[in-house]
Parts: sequence; structure tokens; C-alpha cells
Amino acid sequence: MTRVADRLVVAGVGLIGGSLAMALRASGAVGEVVGLGRSTANLRVARRRGLIDRAERDPERAARGADLALIAVPVGAIAPVVEALARALPPDAVITDAGSVKGAVVAAVERVLGASAGRFCGSHPIAGTEHSGAGAALPDLLAGRRCVLTPTARTTPLARRRVRALWEAAGMRVEEMPATVHDHILALVSHLPHMAAYALVNAVVDADAGRRRRVLAYAAGGFKDGTRIAASSPEMWRDICLANRSELLRALDHFTAAVDRLRSAIATGDGDALARELLRACTIRRGLGASSRRIAVRRRPRRSSGR
Ligand code: NAP
Repeated sequence: MTRVADRLVVAGVGLIGGSLAMALRASGAVGEVVGLGRSTANLRVARRRGLIDRAERDPERAARGADLALIAVPVGAIAPVVEALARALPPDAVITDAGSVKGAVVAAVERVLGASAGRFCGSHPIAGTEHSGAGAALPDLLAGRRCVLTPTARTTPLARRRVRALWEAAGMRVEEMPATVHDHILALVSHLPHMAAYALVNAVVDADAGRRRRVLAYAAGGFKDGTRIAASSPEMWRDICLANRSELLRALDHFTAAVDRLRSAIATGDGDALARELLRACTIRRGLGASSRRIAVRRRPRRSSGR
């Protein structure tokens, strides 16, 4: 395995940072992994699980002698963490991030790096679970999944190449696209579904106000499958929504329009219109297969009658 870094600093040893560190250490693609964190409790878990060689809470101590830095903290904290690390990183060290939003993050990072912005190449590994922290890291979370890089005109070819090699060493399929395209796509297939799941949970408990334990006791597969991602970190999702505000607002408008079409067909008893809406979604969803990349069971949806 080619070595992608002699000393990698991972700022935010959570689900994503921890999973990358785990994969790279297992394959021998890194020399040393230094974990930079906020709480000692999480860093202790990271050390105990062998995700990192050394834990630091001071950015300057963490950055010293590192040749590659991954910033895997919530989106709103990425630029401030880059700024703090950059003061002590060697001048030829390359920086990337794992943020789920690219336009606002890349612009903020390039601003704080100023003349040395070329050493940064933004990334988004498209993989995850609803769990957070070092305890949630998995050795194969990233393998076989897509990772999007969003280099800009300022990104150096070296930064681009090294960041690509970093994710490829964890088994990811790396592609590049403009940050605007990334943010449009992810607003639709990731950010909107998370908002829909959070809203669904709140709608159900609001509708049963005062008796929430009773209704939730009957929550089975449908509710649990449809709302699994509402268990994701509120801090992380607050930052994502605010950083991708305009794309997410457009996506939410499409969602409310789709809910309105269902509502109107139900209210008017229009079974044909209702069946058309349901069949369209059903066909598309079944075409995607199961949610796990390892299972791909495809079945043709049965046409439902308008009755
Ligand atoms: P996570 O499991 O919550 O881990 C984030 C870690 O960052 C936590 O361990 C936290 O420390 C630490 N942290 C927070 N603020 C910090 C700061 N200012 N300085 C240093 N460390 C700080 O989150 P994650 O799921 O790995 O997400 C990390 C990034 O990847 C986010 O930008 C997210 O948008 C992106 N991403 C997430 C997913 C996903 O599905 N979860 C997928 C792809 C990309 P404490 O534990 O001490 O609070």
C-alpha cells in the first residue's frame, strides 16, 4: 500500500475522521495519526479503539510536523479549525475537509488561508450512519463509496492529487465536481431527507400531544425505517442546513409541493391521482435497491388500481 501521509492530523475524531483513520491505519497507508479533539472523553475513546496514535486538544501541538490534515468537525467549525491548525502546519502540508456542504465551506477556508489557499482541496466522503463520535467509527464505512472533491482554480495539482490518494487509500471512488453542483445534488438526496425525517418525528408527537409515549409504543418498521436518520447529530445538521440554505430551501419547496399533491388527492378522494403519485415514487425507490451497497434486490412494483 502506498503511504499517503507520514503524519496525518485528524481534527474531529468522530464517525468520519475516526473511520478514515481506522482504514488507513489498518492498511499501513499512514505513518502516525494525531487526533485533534474538543472533549477529552471522545479522544480517550479514539485512543482506546486504536484510531489514533496521539491525542491533542491544542491545534498548534497537533499540527506540528504533520504533512496532511483532515478536518472532520461540524461544517460551521471547519474554517476556524483550519485557521488554528494552519498557524503550525509545515508550509508544504496539504489540508482537506469532510464537510457535507462545499460551497460555503470551501469559500470560508480559502478566505482564512489567504495566500496559501492552494494547499486546500475540499472533499465530501458520501458515506455515514446516524451515529456520532469515535465510538461509532467503522473500518469499512468508506470502502466502495463515492467521495466528491471540489477543487477550485486556486487548488494546486499537488493538493488535488494527495487528497484523492487519501480517500482512495480508504477504498473510496473519488470524483470531482464544482461545489455548486455538489451542494445542489446533496441538498436533494441527503439534506432534504434528513429534514423530512426530523419533521416526521416532530409531526407525530405533536399530533399526539401529551400522550407521546402511547403513540411511540406502536412505532414499528415503517416509522423506524422512515425516521432512522432523525437520530443524527443535531449540531451537525444545524450547521449543514445553514451552510446550504438556498439549495435546501428550494428542495423543501419541492417537498411541500409533493406533500400537497398527496394531501389534495386524499382530501378529494381522487384514488387515480393518489395511485399515480404513489406508483411513481415506488417505481423509482425500488429501482434504487436496498439501502446497503452490498444488497441489490430489485423488484418490479405491482401496479395498484385506482380504487
Ligand atoms: P461526529 O461523529 O459528531 O464527529 C465530529 C467530531 O468533531 C466530534 O468528535 C467532536 O468532538 C469534534 N469537534 C467538534 N467541534 C470541534 C472543534 N471545534 N474542534 C475540534 N474537534 C471538534 O461527526 P461526523 O459524522 O464524523 O461528521 C464530521 C464531518 O463530516 C461534518 O462536517 C459532516 O458534515 C461530515 N460528514 C458527515 C457524514 C455523516 O453521515 N455523519 C457523512 C459525510 C460527511 P467531541 O466528540 O469532543 O464533541
